Amino acid sequence: MEQNKEGILYLVATPIGNLDDITLRAIKILKEVDLIAAEDTRHTIKLLNHLEISKPMISYHRHNEEFRCEYLIKELKEGKNIALVSDAGTPGISDPGEEIVKESIKQNIKIIPIPGPCAMINALIASGISTKEFCFYGFLPLNKKNRREKLEEIKNVNKTIILYEAPHKIKNTLEDLKNILDENRKVVLAREITKIHEEFIRGSINEILPKVDELKGEMVLIIQGNYKKQENDLCNLTIDEHYIYYEKQGLDKKEIIKKIAQDRNVKKNEIYQLFINK
Ligand code: SAM
Repeated sequence: MEQNKEGILYLVATPIGNLDDITLRAIKILKEVDLIAAEDTRHTIKLLNHLEISKPMISYHRHNEEFRCEYLIKELKEGKNIALVSDAGTPGISDPGEEIVKESIKQNIKIIPIPGPCAMINALIASGISTKEFCFYGFLPLNKKNRREKLEEIKNVNKTIILYEAPHKIKNTLEDLKNILDENRKVVLAREITKIHEEFIRGSINEILPKVDELKGEMVLIIQGNYKKQENDLCNLTIDEHYIYYEKQGLDKKEIIKKIAQDRNVKKNEIYQLFINK
């Protein structure tokens, strides 16, 4: 562990189901810090017991974030090393963490992330939907107006979209998505990742909807981006910009010409003539 006059704030990722998914470094840090700030101490104690770690804990959750932040900063300033953990996965990702990180930066306190599980990343990498570019939206707002606005925004995103959802709300969310997105958009529902009932349900929104009635457990939705929007956007580029766009993706001249012709709905030869000497 690093020696500093002031303490260090460690952001420690913990398992999202399978307790074996904890890194050696995370265990080392949890053993060495002076204090663990946990979203729910009753939850984290199970992990600590499993790891045979005994350490003072303090709660740090949505409802006490502000005043607890002040206390933790004071402790850090006095030289205590603190590990922040959430109930599952990576702190700060749809979980408390952002506030204390911002405040620590203001106070010149060193922050060290300790990488580990994150539901959205694991859902994404196993989804089969593009991992090249993606937008994470966390949980959709519940407020009707905000939700509608967010769905309208999502509709036009030309990158993979990631949502977190609770099992009792998944049907409603898929119905909202069906009403606003092209119903043939590919969706993957990743459920109970790293647990016994881990499952990836793949299909269009229409195909997935009838399968979610009885679904339990934790889930992530991975939604294919709006590629039509991307194609329209590409058509707004100059032909040279369009060429460079694909060139940057490592495509060769023949492939680029084919892609541009498809995007612009013109004959390949027309595009070929423009780039004959390129
Ligand atoms: N910080 C966490 C992370 O790094 O993924 C996310 C916390 S957020 C409060 C909880 C949500 O994450 C759940 O409602 C679910 O959408 C998703 N999630 C967490 N664990 C999961 C798992 N094992 N399988 C699928 N989704 C999971």
